[in-house]
Parts: sequence; C-alpha cells; structure tokens
Amino acid sequence: MKLLDFIRRMFVTRICILCDEAIDRDQKSPFCEDCVEEWDNLLETRCNRCGEDRHTCNCLPHLVRKNFKVCCWSVFYTPNHSEEISLTHLLVYRLKYSKYRDCINFCAEVMKNSLIECCKKHGVNYKEYAITYSPRRLHNRLRYEFDQSKELAKRIAFLLGLDFVEALDNIGHSEQKKLSAIERRRNAQESYKLKKGFVNNHKKYFIVDDIMTSGATLVYCSRLLYGAGATDVIPVTYAKDNYKYKGD
Ligand SMILES: [Zn+2]
Ligand SMILES: [Zn+2]
Repeated sequence: MKLLDFIRRMFVTRICILCDEAIDRDQKSPFCEDCVEEWDNLLETRCNRCGEDRHTCNCLPHLVRKNFKVCCWSVFYTPNHSEEISLTHLLVYRLKYSKYRDCINFCAEVMKNSLIECCKKHGVNYKEYAITYSPRRLHNRLRYEFDQSKELAKRIAFLLGLDFVEALDNIGHSEQKKLSAIERRRNAQESYKLKKGFVNNHKKYFIVDDIMTSGATLVYCSRLLYGAGATDVIPVTYAKDNYKYKGD
C-alpha cells in the first residue's frame, strides 16, 4: 500500500472499499452510494452457464464435484470482457493486495452468511467444524505482508465462534493463476503440506480460500487434512470463477 494511501485510510476518513471515495465514518456499509448499487446488482447476477442465481446455481468444477459433498461460495467471479473492471475482480484484487481491514471484514461477513445458508441447505451443523485456510505462497506473503485467506478464515472463525487452526503450509513457487488446469493440479499437489508441528485436534474443517477456479488447491489441501485424520472438509470461498474451468 502506498504511504499516502495508508495515511489517508488511517487518519483522514473512511473510504469506500472499492473506489476510494470518502464515506461516512458511522455508515454501516463499506461502499459509497454508487458502489453499493453495483454490489446489489452483483448479488443479482445469474450464472453464465445455467442461468440460475447464486443461491441455486450448482455448477462446480469436476474436481470439486468429485471430492466434496458440500461446497460454499458467495459470489460469481466475472472476468473483464470490456475495459471496465468488474466489481468482483476489483474486490478480489483489493482482498489480495491491499490488506484493507474493511474489505476483509466485509468479505468475511458475506462468506459467513453464505456458509450458514449453505450448511442449512445441506443439513450440516457448522458448530462441529474448525476453520482453516489454504495459505498464500511465501513469496507473496512476504511481498504483501499478509495472507488474505488467513485473514478471512480468522474473521469467519471469530464471527461463528469456531476454532481457527493453522494446519497447512504453502511451499510452492509457481503462481496458480498463471498455470493451465493440468499444471494447476500438479502445482497444487506439490505446493501444500501440513504445517510443521501441526497436531490435529478436530475432525471436521471448513477450508477458506478467496476464489475457486479449478478447485485443485482446495482438493489437495483437503487431502492433507483427511490424511491427518479429518473426517469431513468443506471448502468456503468468497468467489467462484465459472469461466476458466471445464465443468461437467
Ligand atoms: Zn465506491
Ligand atoms: Zn450455474
């Protein structure tokens, strides 16, 4: 984060998590008026594959369908077809690179609500679960000085009163987003391992990530948890990318 930006955020005023427009300090929503309208529109977005909305769309990557009984996600991740940057792109971008507390808290709240809704739909008692996350590559953790999935997981655990567990480590070197589907699988398989000294005290886990694309990261992380004695793992992501994977 640039220094000026930082000072502005710390001392001057509260700003919209998307466009940096000043907003009222006491306002509940973290968006300015224009962005809150865009956010409402985003929630109404329909799936580009099945035409359903986010509550009823069940299009999942083959890998995810094969490996998880239940999968929670909150919004569709829409790619940029025009010059204009889409709202989910922008919010995921903010999540990944800006360490902006309002943004993390907002997305965690959205994810928490989807998680509760999803568990209700599938008859899952979320209180039996602990929360962990798929860690960011060390290179990026050092570069941006935080791990967005960890921050989201911590916050969701706090909101739901669940245990937050640091179970996994990322020792990978390649960035998932730059790889093809097959390369992603191979990279995910090689990148994650159980954290040194990790003792598994839980049976069931929600595994948090910011975005689900092929699902490879989530699947390989879940296999490590199953290997450590977990009996159920449910992925929880903020966005679901419908464009890059080949579903079934
Ligand atoms: Zn705004
Ligand atoms: Zn769909």
